[in-house]
Amino acid sequence: MGFENTGRVWSPSSFSTYLATLTPPAWATAVTLHHTAAPSLAQRPNGFTAQHLSNLRHFYEVTLGWSSAPHLFIDDDQLWGMCDFRKQGVHAVSFNRSAIGIEVLGDYDKESPRSGRGLACWRTAAQATRLIADWLKLPITPATILFHRDDPKTTKTCPGTRILKDWIIDLINSAAAPNTGPIPDRTGKPPLDVTLAANQWRYVGERWCIPVRAYLLKKGVADSVIAANLKKQGSQFFFGLELLEGAFYDQTTSSTWAPVHELTSLPPAQP
Ligand SMILES: [Zn+2]
Repeated sequence: MGFENTGRVWSPSSFSTYLATLTPPAWATAVTLHHTAAPSLAQRPNGFTAQHLSNLRHFYEVTLGWSSAPHLFIDDDQLWGMCDFRKQGVHAVSFNRSAIGIEVLGDYDKESPRSGRGLACWRTAAQATRLIADWLKLPITPATILFHRDDPKTTKTCPGTRILKDWIIDLINSAAAPNTGPIPDRTGKPPLDVTLAANQWRYVGERWCIPVRAYLLKKGVADSVIAANLKKQGSQFFFGLELLEGAFYDQTTSSTWAPVHELTSLPPAQP
């Protein structure tokens, strides 16, 4: 059976960590990109949910009667699993035996991949593809980055007539590997004036977090002001009267960390 990962969801960062735990399979020498076509972006205004993936599994397993399915489904910012990455999936007749199958949310015969949500989905797909290629130790070439329509046994336009090979290869090549620096999270982007070293960023609870004191010192807030305002009440941290949602105390650095957007949205501290 090839539905083991249904229910799993990753960010690009946590996906990188997950892949590192798996031994790359020798059969996988390429990645094949697809679009879902239906559903389109318009039909999934908030991307996928776990229920959508459960429905997709039912479609492949029961409606189609397939023994397996694509490996990954991608929306604006998340990676949803289905087939185990070490097993051959079912997604393109000529490529099932040699390629990891990735489905990108949207209908790219009609919807644009160059802006808005279409671009967000393809950027996320490019990151996922880059991570899989790195995991499999594959170069990024037209022979390793396949489109479903490259299969001579299909007449489909998949992943959509608006997706061009050179464009996606550029996007994959420019996709930054995660864990090497700040990457925007779902709810807030690191501002340009956050000049903290890479080791002062951590991806925790699906959010980028930074040490509160180190950040505020960089912002020019006096140590005495930080000490007077940063408080713990029960399991929650406050700065002045503002709740720092998602903040936590880290034993290894002996400091309080908080999601970056919680800090950048703080009002000016009162001495
Ligand atoms: Zn396809």
